[in-house]
Amino acid sequence: PIGLLDGKIIDLQENIVPMEDRGHQFGDGVYEVTKVYNGYCFALKLHLDRLYRSLRELTIPAVYTYEELVEFHALLIKESGIKDGAIYLQITRGVSPRAHGFPEQVVPRLTMSIRPVSAVPDKNKVEGAKGLLIPDERWLRCDIKSLNLLGNVLGKQKAKDAGCFEGIQVRDGIVTEGTSSNFFVIKDDVLWTHPTCNLILTGVTRTLVIEKIAPELGLIVVEKKFDEEFAKSAQETFVSGTSSEITPIIALNGQPVGNGSVGPITHKIQDAYWKLIDEECKR
Ligand code: PLP
Repeated sequence: PIGLLDGKIIDLQENIVPMEDRGHQFGDGVYEVTKVYNGYCFALKLHLDRLYRSLRELTIPAVYTYEELVEFHALLIKESGIKDGAIYLQITRGVSPRAHGFPEQVVPRLTMSIRPVSAVPDKNKVEGAKGLLIPDERWLRCDIKSLNLLGNVLGKQKAKDAGCFEGIQVRDGIVTEGTSSNFFVIKDDVLWTHPTCNLILTGVTRTLVIEKIAPELGLIVVEKKFDEEFAKSAQETFVSGTSSEITPIIALNGQPVGNGSVGPITHKIQDAYWKLIDEECKR
């Protein structure tokens, strides 16, 4: 497997993390994950726009241009020969003797890797998956795609331990999002999802569902808060994300959602998402 360090191709086996990288010691950095389909990086502009926003929110200087980052993604695809995969990118505040406050005159550090992913949708996407409602124990800046993922990691494990695919987080009685995905419910044929704010990540897939897919399918979307009971009594529910794509959630806490199988609206949204990929990635 290959990766990239500050613009240069490296072997992923190399020990490239210095002890005093702030990403390593404080989780002081940001990341993005993009999917590669047929040798093309999907929705890269939206991911890079969000990356620059995350950097700005943490006052980490952007030392790579948009064009450079696009080029690095293409380079990893070319050098690895991977046609279908996922690219991970992270930028940390840099390497400096350990102290909480920001270091001065330190250059942020960029690392990237590419891994193959099957081009065939897995069972969860085809047959639907189970969700578990769990308390949202994360910090209050979930809008920043930061390296601090402990809340998400613990939440995902809680779901896995219960035999579920995703943990659907609930804060103060309100359903926020999955541990690595956004959450949608369908009621009276209307799509509901938590509004964009500090409590959720503005997912690229979420944005595509709201701005491209729903209008094309003639679906109404409301970005409004809703509670657990609302979610449990929905017609259909699904999660959206770069890796999850559109994954139907057919049960919540062991109870079927709707009739407990993939619903027709989720099906249409999934097909429309794959069509967007086909068009952009020339599949
Ligand atoms: N919400 C959280 C907490 C995530 O970690 C992710 C993706 O990893 C998402 C939502 C979905 O974002 P995207 O569609 O950009 O992958």
